[in-house]
Amino acid sequence: MSEPFKTKKYLAIANEPVFVGTGGYRIGRVDNTIVRDPATNLPKIPGSTISGNARYYSWLAYKSEGMNKEMNIACSKGKTTKDENGKDQEACGICQVCLTYGFINSKEAHSGLAYFSDARILFFPVSTMIGTVWLTSDEIVNEFINTGSEPITTGNDKFLYSQSIRNSLPQSNENKKILNFGWIMLEAKDSINSENWKLKKDADTDEIVNLIEILNRIENRICVVSKDVFHHIVNSNLETRTSVSINPITGAAESGALFTYEALPRGTVFIFDVTYENPANYMKDESMEIVIGTVEKGFNLFSSLGIGGMGTRGFGKIEIIDNRLDEKKYWEKLKDFIGKLNNNLNELETKISKLKQEIENEQDKNKKKELTKEKDKLEKEKQAFEQKKSLWMEYVGKVKTQKEVCVNNENDILNIFEEILLLNGEANNEQNQS
Ligand SMILES: [Zn+2]
Repeated sequence: MSEPFKTKKYLAIANEPVFVGTGGYRIGRVDNTIVRDPATNLPKIPGSTISGNARYYSWLAYKSEGMNKEMNIACSKGKTTKDENGKDQEACGICQVCLTYGFINSKEAHSGLAYFSDARILFFPVSTMIGTVWLTSDEIVNEFINTGSEPITTGNDKFLYSQSIRNSLPQSNENKKILNFGWIMLEAKDSINSENWKLKKDADTDEIVNLIEILNRIENRICVVSKDVFHHIVNSNLETRTSVSINPITGAAESGALFTYEALPRGTVFIFDVTYENPANYMKDESMEIVIGTVEKGFNLFSSLGIGGMGTRGFGKIEIIDNRLDEKKYWEKLKDFIGKLNNNLNELETKISKLKQEIENEQDKNKKKELTKEKDKLEKEKQAFEQKKSLWMEYVGKVKTQKEVCVNNENDILNIFEEILLLNGEANNEQNQS
């Protein structure tokens, strides 16, 4: 069996200010505080916020790609939810969103197969005399980054800087290189080769994102300060804005209902990880890649639909960088999975017809009853497999049609669709319909 768990690290950059409130603010008051990590007291995006948004967006992605059978609005939350007609809907428990993120319905409850860490600040943008630089702390660097040399230290009054900004650093009267970070002026200590930095591999992660894309985005303009100074600078450079509360029922502004909130600025770089559990741990045939692909489908929408609060006011669009599962791999694994579903169905079919024969030939009443019970159980199992299969087959057929329309250079993927449909003997039907 393949590995039971896999942890992937992800980097993200905020394309808009990210507001992640603690919730429960009182209208008209200045208490919309940002969520902080209790250990570092730095703002963070809680793992539960990432997972809640990812779930909804994975659901939206599957839905918009044409997965309709079984999957309903409750699958986007994993629990009973009112639909647009005010009717209670139950999470289906069959679709990939339910399986990946967990669900509870009247029959069963399952925890999800993806565990999200909090997203922590890796680089924080600050205005200086020489333009924006991205700040981090020695503590953060030593935790996440392989600098290729000894652990980094800075004093409380000094900073380290990327080679790329060396020549633009201002000089003090004493001919020392200095720079202001917001209102704090520090003296340059030494330069760093940040262009060679890589993310550290740790005991939990076997998948490493390369820092290159992020470093390019921020033009390699990095400065490192001590943990205390970093803390200070971050907290005094959060975006503070005042907004009007909107009455959610009338849509009108509440009179006098101004409130203030803090947000992490555009350009903030985050790091987080997701631990994926192998469905095989629960005797399920889906491969881990299908779980990963499902979560990452959701991640793709973070950059257009945003994360955290106030999404509708143009807040919280973050872009998750690189490190995505190859799409072809996702479809290949889905093909394997549907092959397995077919095998299971055939096996069950054989077992059921054998049982039917035995029941017919059995004279003993009690034994007959027992065999019938066994047969009913297998038939239920078969039904569940069939439901799952028809859900996926419908989806594959629809995505294939979409791909054929919009993409001409993805022949590899189109071939996989063809093979999946052949597995099911549906390739011809599909052609006849269109
Ligand atoms: Zn579902």
